[in-house]
Amino acid sequence: MLNKKLDIIFPPVCGVCGRIDRNSLCNKCNIQLKNQEVFGIDNYIDDYEKYYDEHLYIFMYSGVVRKILIDYKFNDCSFIYKTFTNFILKNEKFVENIKSYDIIIPVPLSKKRKKERGYNQSELIAKEICRLTNLKLNTKSLKKIKNITEQSTLNKEKRETNIKDAYCLKFPSTVVNKKVLIIDDVYTTGSTVNECSKLIKNAGSKQIGILTIAKD
Ligand SMILES: [Zn+2]
Repeated sequence: MLNKKLDIIFPPVCGVCGRIDRNSLCNKCNIQLKNQEVFGIDNYIDDYEKYYDEHLYIFMYSGVVRKILIDYKFNDCSFIYKTFTNFILKNEKFVENIKSYDIIIPVPLSKKRKKERGYNQSELIAKEICRLTNLKLNTKSLKKIKNITEQSTLNKEKRETNIKDAYCLKFPSTVVNKKVLIIDDVYTTGSTVNECSKLIKNAGSKQIGILTIAKD
């Protein structure tokens, strides 16, 4: 009900071109995104430096996808989460893979960053995926305890040092024997999600997957 009222005041718009569109993605822009879709799955089971088992991603980080991800994260366009989730849900095979997990945990922001931005971009995507798939959302366990330099401004080596010990896991029992899917917006070196995965793996999780909108 509340959603319907909000739709009248703020009608949903296409996250790519800004035209009013009920599905948050117009047909024209859907074709643009389709041209760029990858729906990739990278396997990391044999990579002993990684604490996660697989990485699922929808796009490569380029072109229009890069543009809307920057708008989504830095230009106050929180509504774009709908554009991404509606696009993901059109791929049944990919959704089946997502549904094979037990819990979804979005990469958290520090309190300070969340206050500045007004929203956590990964949490909005995670929430909507959980709403549409009936998976369990967990935003209480993983917390960011260090306010660090924005990872995207650093090179690979500096990213790893910057992110070290930036997170903590409260209520570790919530992930014991569970298949956990961690959601982030962009995957570059994987150091952020690896740091999160380390805590979740060490707490006794059975399997860890990473889902990002794009891979850089
Ligand atoms: Zn459009």
